[in-house]
Order: sequence, then C-alpha cells, then structure tokens
Amino acid sequence: MTAYFNGLVLTEAGARPGVAELRLPEVGPGQVRVRVRAAGVCHSDLSMVNGTIRPSYPLVLGHEAAGEVVEVGANVTRAAVGDHVVLNWQPACRSCWFCEQGEPWLCSTSSGVASLENGVTLDGVPVHVALGLGAFAEQVVAPENAVIRVPSSLPFELAALLSCGVLTGAGAVRNTAQVRPGESAVVIGLGGVGLSVVAAARAAGASQVIAVDVTEAKKGLAEAAGATDFVVSSDTLSKDIRGRTSGRGADHAFECVGRAATIRAAWRATRRGGKVTVVGMGSNDDQVSLSALDIFSSARTLRSSVYGSADFDLEIPRLADDVLSGRLSLNHLITDRITLPDVPEAFDNMSRGEGARSVVTL
Ligand SMILES: [Zn+2]
Ligand SMILES: [Zn+2]
Repeated sequence: MTAYFNGLVLTEAGARPGVAELRLPEVGPGQVRVRVRAAGVCHSDLSMVNGTIRPSYPLVLGHEAAGEVVEVGANVTRAAVGDHVVLNWQPACRSCWFCEQGEPWLCSTSSGVASLENGVTLDGVPVHVALGLGAFAEQVVAPENAVIRVPSSLPFELAALLSCGVLTGAGAVRNTAQVRPGESAVVIGLGGVGLSVVAAARAAGASQVIAVDVTEAKKGLAEAAGATDFVVSSDTLSKDIRGRTSGRGADHAFECVGRAATIRAAWRATRRGGKVTVVGMGSNDDQVSLSALDIFSSARTLRSSVYGSADFDLEIPRLADDVLSGRLSLNHLITDRITLPDVPEAFDNMSRGEGARSVVTL
C-alpha cells in the first residue's frame, strides 16, 4: 500500500527544514513500515543542517526514534504488526568480517552513511533519508534488521532516546571504558550523550562523576543525571580535576564534544594509567597533538567509542529493562516535548547549548 505522510525535509545545507508531504515506498520483502511515535533531536541531525556533515539533499532528517510496526513485508521474522520497536541507524549484516568478530557496531556493510535513497519521494522526486531512516516523519519504511523490539510498557519517548544518544553514552561507559564500582570519571560536554554517560557511570557504581560544561546552565541537569561534581570548563580544567581526585586525575575521562582541545583536556584530566574515551564526533581538520614522551610515560589509553561499542540487538533490550526497573534513569534527559514544525527551533536551542534532548512526539 502506497501512502503519503508528513516528514521534515532539508533542501540544502544551511536552509531551514520544513514539513512536507512524502510518498513512502511500498513495503518490500524483508522490510517493515513503522509508525513513528517519538523521535529525539540529536546533534548529528544538527550537523547535517549546519553543514558539518555533508549528506545529499533533499533529505528527510531524523534517526533517533521509536514507534509501532504497522506493516511487514514478505519473509520478515524479526517483527510483527503491533510490535513496539526502536529504530537502528546502523543495522548489522551479521555476516561481514567485523560482525563475525563480534563487532557489529563496525559492520562494513552499514557505514552509517549520512543519506541514502530508499524510495521515498516528494512531488515525484526521490529524496534521501538521514542515516537510512529519515525518522522525523509520521512513518518510515526500513529493513527489518533496523528495528529492535522493546517492551510495550516502555514509553515511546524513552525508547527513542535508547536508539542513539543513550546507547552511545551508556555503551561508552559499559563496553568501551568498562567503568568499575568505586572508580572516578570526568565527563566533558553535557548534551544528550554526555548526560547519558553521567547516568550510566553512576549506574555502573562510579563513586565520583565530575560533569564539565562551558556554562553553569547545565549544572542542574548534570546533578539530576547523577553527577557528584560540576565544573565550568576553563584553561585550568585539568588542575581543577586533579584537585578533586587526590591530585592524581580521574580514572576515566569521556570526551563528548568532538574537538581536539577537549580531547587534550580529557587526556590531561586523567590519572597515570587512566582511560580516555572519545565519544564526540569531530572534524577531519582538527588535529590532536600529544608528545611522544607523554604518550609513553602517562601510560594512558586513548580510544574512541563508536555507537557505544554495542551489539545493539542485545543491548537495547537490556537498556530498556534497566529503564523499566529504575536502574537507569532517563527522565532528566528530556527537556522539551515538541511537534515536527518545532524541530528547527530545537536546532537553534541546541546550537546555543541549551537543554538536553528535545523529543518530537507524533
Ligand atoms: Zn544520533
Ligand atoms: Zn556486518
């Protein structure tokens, strides 16, 4: 059945996205149609609007979403009509070298390409969909491996957050850094991902979580997420952190900004032998400089965390359980509930570093 639905379309970098009527493709074999019920406004969406990432246009934005399956194509086994699902923007093939190594987040057939054509059209012209989804839309058609079932008792707005920001943040803590009870952690940059890192580090038993942002504005959110300390970033950040960690520096630092300067700050805030985990996605021309002697003698580990180093098909249901049982609290993450036409304003707020997650409810 071919159908028309509203979606948020960006015509070129720097333009103001607008709501337009899209024609969805028919649901083919191995595909499902999902009625989107909630979609989070993620920093990657903003990067596509402001040109930091250069996808193809016109583009239906949105990729952090959850909804209800309304139609399944032939041979679909992972989902049935009525299931509540989270959408996965980097579905794994389960047969490439990386998948067979148990690293589906690095799947070589699913490179997290910013824009793909999937048969959606606007006035008869093909449009691209963000990260294979284009989830700022009333409905999407996606391959079945891009949907992950979650319990129907999990509110859609929380389910949506699991699919990108929370999986990225919690996965960095649990899988990449493997924070242990009693350890200390610094978290630099308190957007949706950084606040998820704070919450997951506390849930993992970290005894001290030092949250860092550029202004005092995020202090309340950081404390609600479980931060024990809040520090406004400055030139003396690493000294401030050492002062709060017995002079040594923290066991872990999480960089959730994606800039060379904050990666260096995270490095310097960490103790000898500590772990620095880069969660923020930076640009290609921003070079990080560390001395060869410092790299050797500090005995620190510097690594990145892509999509939470997580097997999303296992971890998203686990995170859903953690939220439902109260082990992981996400309520503080949602600072605005909006509709599709409000998304451009949410991008403006995000550019100014205001709030945590805005969630579109449909
Ligand atoms: Zn995202
Ligand atoms: Zn693969």
